[in-house]
Amino acid sequence: MSESFDVAVVGAGPAGSAAALSAAKQGLRVLMLDRGERVGAKNLSGGMILSRVLEQLAPDYAVTAPLERPVEHQRLMVVDGDRALTIDIGNAGFVGPPYNGFTVLRRRFDAWLAEQAAAAGAVVLSEAVVDDVITEGSQIVGIKVRGPDGDVRAKVVVLADGVNSLLAKKAGLRGPQQAHDLSLGVKELLALPKDAIEARFGLAPGRGAAYAVIGDFLEGVRGGGFVYANRETVSLGVVAPLTDLAALKVPADEVLERFKAIPGIARLIEGAKLLEYGAHLVPEGGRRAMPRVLGPGVLVAGDAAGLVVNTGLLMMGMNLAIDSGRCAGLAAAHAIAAGDVSASGLGEYRRLLGQSVGLSALTAHRRAPDLLRRKRIFTWYPKLVNDLLQDIVAVGPGRKDGLIKIARRHLSARQMMTVAADVLKAARSL
Ligand SMILES: Cc1cc2nc3c(=O)[nH]c(=O)nc-3n(C[C@H](O)[C@H](O)[C@H](O)COP(=O)(O)OP(=O)(O)OC[C@H]3O[C@@H](n4cnc5c(N)ncnc54)[C@H](O)[C@@H]3O)c2cc1C
Repeated sequence: MSESFDVAVVGAGPAGSAAALSAAKQGLRVLMLDRGERVGAKNLSGGMILSRVLEQLAPDYAVTAPLERPVEHQRLMVVDGDRALTIDIGNAGFVGPPYNGFTVLRRRFDAWLAEQAAAAGAVVLSEAVVDDVITEGSQIVGIKVRGPDGDVRAKVVVLADGVNSLLAKKAGLRGPQQAHDLSLGVKELLALPKDAIEARFGLAPGRGAAYAVIGDFLEGVRGGGFVYANRETVSLGVVAPLTDLAALKVPADEVLERFKAIPGIARLIEGAKLLEYGAHLVPEGGRRAMPRVLGPGVLVAGDAAGLVVNTGLLMMGMNLAIDSGRCAGLAAAHAIAAGDVSASGLGEYRRLLGQSVGLSALTAHRRAPDLLRRKRIFTWYPKLVNDLLQDIVAVGPGRKDGLIKIARRHLSARQMMTVAADVLKAARSL
């Protein structure tokens, strides 16, 4: 391909398609390439998208996008053995405009977002692997595409190639990733009739629910699970630090089996049929682990830029990818219009990111990675919470204790101090 473009986007996940869409809407000549056999074919998510970031890019998304269910109930399940405390954050207002979030299936959702970019004028190619960036001096001026397509020149290259971004490394924007900044997500998609989903999840027709699950179901592993109700499928999985899973020496599929065996989860998916299985890395190092997000002629968006926030209750990845992609498209247009695609000319990207949901979420939750590194969050607390609640609700023949006495029975003075410190930390992190 000897053609040249204003913007070349590598990767057609949510970040890439949002970048291509926003750049094309600015009237730029945009090329987006993805190595998958079809856009979205191999992309993986738990599948709840906090969707308001789409309002600016595709205002009618709630009607046109292939969404599964609007999420009315977000539930936190704190598990200890066969006991569980479930907190239900329900809001009927979330099932109408402006909506808070939807469950989605990435295969369909990614294809739709890429179609929006194509409809705005971007050229979208699948089965196109980008092996490297092309540089002239320190300026990035294009990309090397494997095979007959060859070199493509572009004024601005947007790297949206996901968590392992080899291209950000080749562009000199990041060093090697540290294992302790990465988590592994394993996921299954299970088929279940619509009526069974609505009965088991306690949902009105067409409405959705998302469970975040914590507990010591993985023998000390600091990770959590998720279960999302789709139309006629259930998405279910576990996300846990790579280092913990490596130390556990349990294969990824066994990790999922243990999660599925939790009584409260088993009840939701009984008789469901396995449709898909997948595993993928998640960059969970927070702001500290972010690479440089721009250089001369190049911008980095989405997972490639480390833009993921996991608070235990909410996983924000797709929305941050979309918002950073949108900012990248706008910043490219700004720099090209000004005739300056040097690093300083592309500095608008940093400014836009600073105002975006992505960077503000990473800043607001900057302490979350440290909080979630504390093993006791996943081991001791779930047991403590269930012990306390058990004693509160169980009434025997003898004298019934009040809350303070019950708390004293389960907690030493030192442990109370630990709890107070953790509650404070959680309040500042989540
Ligand atoms: C198990 C799991 C559960 C998750 N749950 C949620 C959730 O519920 N909600 C949420 O918001 N987020 C969730 N996430 C995170 C979310 O999936 C990611 O943050 C999001 O997909 C990032 O989008 P992206 O476009 O940056 O990268 P990706 O979606 O990874 O897309 C990268 C694209 O680049 C392409 N590519 C890579 N290299 C090349 C190359 N050299 N040449 C050409 N193409 C290339 C790939 O084919 C891919 O299409 C979850 C992640 C996992 C693993």
